[in-house]
Amino acid sequence: MVRFILFATLIAVSVLVAYVFSQNPDWNAAFEVFGYRLKLHLGFLFFGLVLLLWLFGWLYFGVRRTLAMPAEMAKNARISRQNRGYKALTQGLVALAAGDPDEADKQARRANKLLEETPATLLLTAQAAQLNGDEESAAVYFEEMTKNDDTAFLGLRGKIMQALAQGDRKEVQLLLERARKIKPNAPWILETEYEMGMQTGQLEGAQRAVKRLASRRLLPSSVAKQRLALTEADLAFQAAEKGAWRQAVDHAQRAISDEPTLLPARSLAARAHLELGHLRKAKEHAVEAWRLRPTAGAATTYLRACKPRDIAAKRVAIAELIQANPNALFSQYLRAEAAIESADVAIAQEAVGDLPETSAAVGINALKLRMEDLKSGGEDRTPSPLDGHSLPVEPQVCSNCGTEHTRWRAVCTDCGTSGNIGLPTRAAQAPKMLPPA
Ligand SMILES: [Zn+2]
Repeated sequence: MVRFILFATLIAVSVLVAYVFSQNPDWNAAFEVFGYRLKLHLGFLFFGLVLLLWLFGWLYFGVRRTLAMPAEMAKNARISRQNRGYKALTQGLVALAAGDPDEADKQARRANKLLEETPATLLLTAQAAQLNGDEESAAVYFEEMTKNDDTAFLGLRGKIMQALAQGDRKEVQLLLERARKIKPNAPWILETEYEMGMQTGQLEGAQRAVKRLASRRLLPSSVAKQRLALTEADLAFQAAEKGAWRQAVDHAQRAISDEPTLLPARSLAARAHLELGHLRKAKEHAVEAWRLRPTAGAATTYLRACKPRDIAAKRVAIAELIQANPNALFSQYLRAEAAIESADVAIAQEAVGDLPETSAAVGINALKLRMEDLKSGGEDRTPSPLDGHSLPVEPQVCSNCGTEHTRWRAVCTDCGTSGNIGLPTRAAQAPKMLPPA
C-alpha cells in the first residue's frame, strides 16, 4: 500500500514537472563543450539526469550482486553440506536401530565428514563401532566424549554400559560417581544404582535408588513396591542366617506390607515369630503362607507353634491349617498322614484314596506303604514327630538359569538376575473327584 502511494506520487510529480516544462519552451540551457556550443531544453536535461541516475542505480546493484556471489555460494554449499550431514546422521541412527552394522558405519563416516563434531555424530560413531563389535574403538570415542562438557554425560553412559557388559563393577561405581555429578537423577543412573546395589549385596543402596525412582514417578509404584519387598525379604533372610530373629521379623514385616503375596517373606515372618516365642503371630503368618502356597516349612512352623501334646491335638491343628487351602495336594497329604498316625483306618483309606496315583516327588508312595502297614499290622510304623510331618522340602530354583539355591534369595548368585528365585512349580492340586456315575 505504502509502495503504491509512493509510486503514484512519483508519477504525479513527474507529470506535473513535464507539464511545467512543456508550458515553458524558452527554458533553455546553453553551454560550450570542446568548442561546440550546445543548447538544450531544461526538460531534456532534467529527465536525462533522472534516467542516468536510474541506470547508475541498477549498475551499482548488479556489481554488488556479482561481488557477493562467492560468499553466497559458499553459504549455500555449507547449508547443503549440513543437510546431507543430517541426512547421513538420520540414516545412521535408523541403521543402528535396525541393527545394520555396515550401513551404520558408512553413514557415521559420512556424517563425520559432512558435519562438525557434534554430540550426535560422536555418539553415532561410537555406537556404530560397538555394533560392529569394535568395543575398543567405541571406548576411544566414548572417552573422547567425556572430555567435552556437552558430550561428557553421554560418553560416561557409554563407558558405564561397556563396564557393565564386562562385569567390571568397580569401574561402574567409579563412572557412576562421575555421571551422578552431572545429572544425579537421570533414570538410567538410578536404575544402574539399583542393579549394582542388588548384585553387590548393598541392598540399602538399591532401596534408595528405587525410592528416588518412585518419588520422581520414573517407576510405577507397584514395581517399586515389588523391588522394595524383594530387598526387605532378602535382608530378613540374611538376619535369620545370623540368628537375629528380631531384625528378621522387622524386615519380613516390611516386605509383607509392600507385597502381601511374597511367599518367602510370609514363611520367614512365621518362622521368626516362632523363634521369638510369638506363637499366635507365628501361626497367623503360617496360615497366610499356606493360603498362598502350601510348603513343608509353613507346616513345620505351624505345628511347632501349636505344640500338640498328643496325636488328637495334632490332627486338630492340621485340620485348622489346611482349611486355608483345602484343595492343595499338600493339604490332602497332611490330612491323610494325620489319619494314618491316629490309626483312623476309615478316614485314612479315604484320604489316601483321594491322592493322585503317581506323584513320586511328594512321597505319596511312602504314605501308601504306611497305609498298608496300618491295615495289616494295626499301627503306623514310621510316624512323624508330634510337631512334624513328612512333606518334602521343595528346592528354591532360579527360573532364569535353573540353579538350585539352599535358601530363597532376591538375586541369583549364579546368573545375577533378581526376583527369579522361587519354588520350581505351581502348587499341585489334588485331582478333582468325578461325580459318581
Ligand atoms: Zn539364576
